[in-house]
Amino acid sequence: MSALSSAPMRLPSSIPAAACVKEEGFSPPSEREPISRSVTSLTTHGHPDHVFGNAAFASEGSAFVGHKNLPEALRTRGPFYLEAFRKIMGDSLIDDVRIVPPTLLVDGTLELDLGGRRLLLQAWPTAHSDNDLTVLDRTRRPCFAGDLLFLGHIPVVDGSIRGWLRILDDLGRPPAERVVPGHGPVSEWPAALADQRRYPRNARRRRPGAGCERCHDQNGGPTRLQNPNEHGGNCSTIITPVTQTAAFSEIEWE
Ligand SMILES: [Zn+2]
Repeated sequence: MSALSSAPMRLPSSIPAAACVKEEGFSPPSEREPISRSVTSLTTHGHPDHVFGNAAFASEGSAFVGHKNLPEALRTRGPFYLEAFRKIMGDSLIDDVRIVPPTLLVDGTLELDLGGRRLLLQAWPTAHSDNDLTVLDRTRRPCFAGDLLFLGHIPVVDGSIRGWLRILDDLGRPPAERVVPGHGPVSEWPAALADQRRYPRNARRRRPGAGCERCHDQNGGPTRLQNPNEHGGNCSTIITPVTQTAAFSEIEWE
């Protein structure tokens, strides 16, 4: 297993013109064709379902772009992610996964011109995680929101629920026509933010362990055993307590 390696930062002038934003889920590199040409690979944040595929794009000359906090997140959590998913997915799938550190960091905003394709990258304060990056394609006007937007899936808080609430207005400002969320279907923008606004506000009001009405009684107790894929993987008893606990630990003294 190779975990995080220390790569030097590269200057923006060295980035390849072909770009990709990877929101590939848990599909490891061995399940897809390796990419032979160099690309500029944009990582929205450091969770395993958003970084495990990076090795497939690690051709010579490729650039990996991420939030300024991404290297530290990958350094501290990368080995744990690999070990945890090795137990779930098995050696044969995880052996090819490498945690690839970014070679170009974004602090605030960064404009990239990839030869007729202008991208605005924005590094956000702590919200879903402490290394959330969004990408606005100024040419074709879609926005890649990463896990700052969950659609049809309960949002997961691994950063700050207060921070997430604070950035929602600014998050909706990019003049995109469509959004590619971290989880869920491509949708109209900024209308897609409506549910996302509701959830953190409700999460602040509910006690830890409370789940959705379909799965839990009025006291927050589960009404029946949950299959993690029930509700399309949305409302498992795993995700909600994690998020509620994170939210409660942050706001319990309010
Ligand atoms: Zn995430």
